[in-house]
Amino acid sequence: MRHYGHYINGEEVSPHSGEHFSTENPFTGEPWAMISRGDGIDVDLAVAAAKQAGEGEWGALSATDRGRLLRGLADLVREKAPHLAQIEMTDNGKLFAEALVQARYMSDYFHYYAGLADKVEGRVIPTDKAGVFTYTKYEPKGVIGIITPWNSPLSLASWKIAPALAAGCTVVVKPSEFTSASTLELVSLFEEAGFPPGVINAVTGFGAEVGEPLVVHPDVAHIGFTGGGEAGRRIYSSAASHLKTVTLELGGKSPNIIFDDADLDQALKGAIAGIFAATGQSCQAGSRLLVQESIHDEFVERLVAYVADITLGDPAAADTQIGPVANRPQFDKILRYIDIATSEGATCVAGGRARPDIGSGQFIEPTIFTGVENGMRIAQEEVFGPVLSVIPFKDEEDAIRIGNDVVFGLAGAVWTRSLRRAMLLTDKLKAGTIWVNNYRATSFTSPFGGFKQSGVGRESGQEAIKEYLETKCVWISSDLDVANPFVKR
Ligand code: NAD
Repeated sequence: MRHYGHYINGEEVSPHSGEHFSTENPFTGEPWAMISRGDGIDVDLAVAAAKQAGEGEWGALSATDRGRLLRGLADLVREKAPHLAQIEMTDNGKLFAEALVQARYMSDYFHYYAGLADKVEGRVIPTDKAGVFTYTKYEPKGVIGIITPWNSPLSLASWKIAPALAAGCTVVVKPSEFTSASTLELVSLFEEAGFPPGVINAVTGFGAEVGEPLVVHPDVAHIGFTGGGEAGRRIYSSAASHLKTVTLELGGKSPNIIFDDADLDQALKGAIAGIFAATGQSCQAGSRLLVQESIHDEFVERLVAYVADITLGDPAAADTQIGPVANRPQFDKILRYIDIATSEGATCVAGGRARPDIGSGQFIEPTIFTGVENGMRIAQEEVFGPVLSVIPFKDEEDAIRIGNDVVFGLAGAVWTRSLRRAMLLTDKLKAGTIWVNNYRATSFTSPFGGFKQSGVGRESGQEAIKEYLETKCVWISSDLDVANPFVKR
């Protein structure tokens, strides 16, 4: 069985604790690799390496040269995409087909930020003072701590690593304890791509043992986190007590809103993509399907018929549409929420059961609840699994009211043929991403992040690089006469 070390200062190293823990293949239920159990001492070593790299060779590179290195990495990631996808599937249970698309797409992320590295421009500011030349410049924040969840480990790490390095920062990444292997495989490519040692480091282990020391480390300037609300709150509060900045990408309970004037064939596929892709383990899942009353029964009937034909199975098989749940605690959590929905009075019209007969048995049928009221827990709390709540609405006002009536604000979608209606809903829904007549599209070019309790800051696009930069304002005076030093100029 493969034993993974940490990756610190360009080398694979054993954990200070001397301990490893196993990681399981969710499809077979079998352990397939051993992961290093990190602690604060490993974090100290990794942060020291990152700090030294930032103050040394990496820090001395021009932005164009950083871009050149990132471009080489992007090509290497594309070449190794099948291997990375295989590891992701083995550790996470993600369909190989989706893992491969994601791994190739990561290459595009690195290419995009390679291009952006030397296009971060300050401004010359015409101030109200005479005899001064005032401009802004951007400087890397320093060492960035990156903490990722288990649902899309490679993509979510790349969303942060690529802009952080383009900005000139260095990185210590802590992947989820459930899915560490693919991130370790990714960081091991940096040396081959020619990056100086210490620019990227990975320390594996648990939230309390590795994540917390990373968050409070005095030499870590910023935390880029994706994960659940509970950990997000703790990290925000620890970071606040050390006055450091954070980017938080948290959960969602996104409304996928179907009006009766929509192209219902497309809306049907959009509803399915919104909740059952990636086994529903997606922050942007359209887990609340708001359907206009006039088409509710017909639409539900079509959904139930569609779901009956979904294939669950081996994530390696080309015809599998829903793979296993990624880990046992998540599997148990999804089943708990199915029980909660039933006890709240919602009606299960499809699925609702585990499938012990497939693989390791860590499978849950695509599940649809009707009769859901938006105040129920099944409509308010993130399940993070293949469980859909269908909620009827009357008109536009009702759709907006229900759509916004959650603590989250990550995403939402509107299906309609009316431009006026689409524009109204995109204005009124409180979420970081709104799709019109599509669902689940994201791109390296476009900002992604949450309103309300779905997060702080933005990833992807030109916005993301700013998360890793400090703005410096420079005042150069050509007026040698310092006027009255006791009176502000
Ligand atoms: P999680 O919050 O349990 O763990 C995420 C990471 O944080 C892990 O690496 C974990 O070890 C670490 N961690 C836990 N406690 C910590 C602490 N006190 N200090 C520092 N690090 C700590 O999340 P998860 O179960 O791995 O992932 C699922 C969650 O991620 C869902 O809520 C989902 O919505 C969210 N998510 C959000 C996005 C987004 O972009 N908004 C994307 C994917 C997933």
